Amino acid sequence: MKEYKKVEWKNIPHFANVTDEQWNDYKWQLKNVVRDIETLEKIVPLEDDEKADLRNCLEKFHMSITPYYAALMDKKDRRCPVRMLAVPRIMELHNDKSDLDDPLHEDVDSPVHGLTHRYPDRVLLLVTNICSMNCRHCTRRRLVGFEDQHLSRANVDKAIEYIRANKVIRDVLISGGDPMVLSDDQLEYIIKQLREIEHVEIIRIGTRTPVVMPQRITDSLVNMLKKYHPIYVNTHFNHPKEITDEARAACAKLADAGISLGNQSVLLRDLNDCPNLMKKLVHELLMIRVRPYYIYQCDLSLGISHFRTTVAKGLEIMENLRGHTSGLAVPTFVVDAPGGGGKIPVMPNYLITMSDERAVLRNYEGVITTYSMPKSATAAEGTVHNCVACEEGKYKPLDGVAKLLNGERLTIQPSELVRHARHHND
Ligand SMILES: *Cc1c(COP(=O)(O)O)cnc(C)c1O
Ligand code: SF4
Repeated sequence: MKEYKKVEWKNIPHFANVTDEQWNDYKWQLKNVVRDIETLEKIVPLEDDEKADLRNCLEKFHMSITPYYAALMDKKDRRCPVRMLAVPRIMELHNDKSDLDDPLHEDVDSPVHGLTHRYPDRVLLLVTNICSMNCRHCTRRRLVGFEDQHLSRANVDKAIEYIRANKVIRDVLISGGDPMVLSDDQLEYIIKQLREIEHVEIIRIGTRTPVVMPQRITDSLVNMLKKYHPIYVNTHFNHPKEITDEARAACAKLADAGISLGNQSVLLRDLNDCPNLMKKLVHELLMIRVRPYYIYQCDLSLGISHFRTTVAKGLEIMENLRGHTSGLAVPTFVVDAPGGGGKIPVMPNYLITMSDERAVLRNYEGVITTYSMPKSATAAEGTVHNCVACEEGKYKPLDGVAKLLNGERLTIQPSELVRHARHHND
């Protein structure tokens, strides 16, 4: 059995008078979030230039670090990943020319306040813009870390009304901010109502709390959640250093309550953009019962260009995972399309070429192989007899490229094409 290290906080003088009971109480953690240079300095020594930079950053951005996560920082190494994820650096004040305020159009694709309805059958519900910790690489910087507020009760009700009225919505993803900063009662208010809607099949919660404030995953929280199954939780580990005994215990509590756990990492320059490190991370995630779900290309949000790396780096990481290790450990690498196109998976090309008869493929070792296609499976014959899922026995995609495949559409075209302007209108 692997041994997990607990965060060593007792030898930090600033926490000398803190009792175990206080430390393990998330309310104490929240009350003692580190927001200023003077306090941070008592936990990790800061050099003069670091302090000067921080002072500049704090004029524009909040810093908030849970004592737990602060204690996990390396005391000497400024490039400690936990430190880079928590302590503002001067580059945050730089806006790159490719930066965008709302790169994913989450506010544009929003029928009611707090809710993004982008995909046909699922919605994103942003219930708060508060987090237990402000991550420096946050994609929702436009919302998080300025004016701290939860989505108002009236807006929660409106969002739930929208979901109730739209029968196509079968999956609700509760995110923020971090939904786990809500009280058990506030969270239950939302989940309970969602569960009462017949067409809502699954409820998902996106949270970084198991990573930055594992104390929040209490028995009462998981006992509440498990009343509303099927509940899925996606968390956000970026680096193996974040996998402590406390984080392991938090994930175990959730998993023991029957909640399936997934992980979404962001690919971050100088922090986790290494195939070996990512492999270590996905292995360690599986050991704490968390299934790697996505690796995100870092979004084009304002002031985080120093965290971005190339799409090529993500591809290289995927090339080093698939086949090399358990399929369960392999997440999907996605670029969340600027302008609201949603998540686009990117992976190495395994299909080399194809004829009517054969597909030529390569595996992770570089072995090239052929798959012989069945002769009879033409489009007309290739449908399931009396299919239980198709209406009138016919497969009809709702939208998108799938309509090209079934022949409903011939092309998908941009609404504005230069050559269209040349068409004569008579
Ligand atoms: C990521 C996301 C979802 C969920 O996407 P999955 O691929 O189903 O996990 C839903 N809505 C929005 C707006 C999202 O960004
Ligand atoms: S927990 Fe998520 S939403 Fe909150 S600051 Fe971190 S990345 Fe942003």
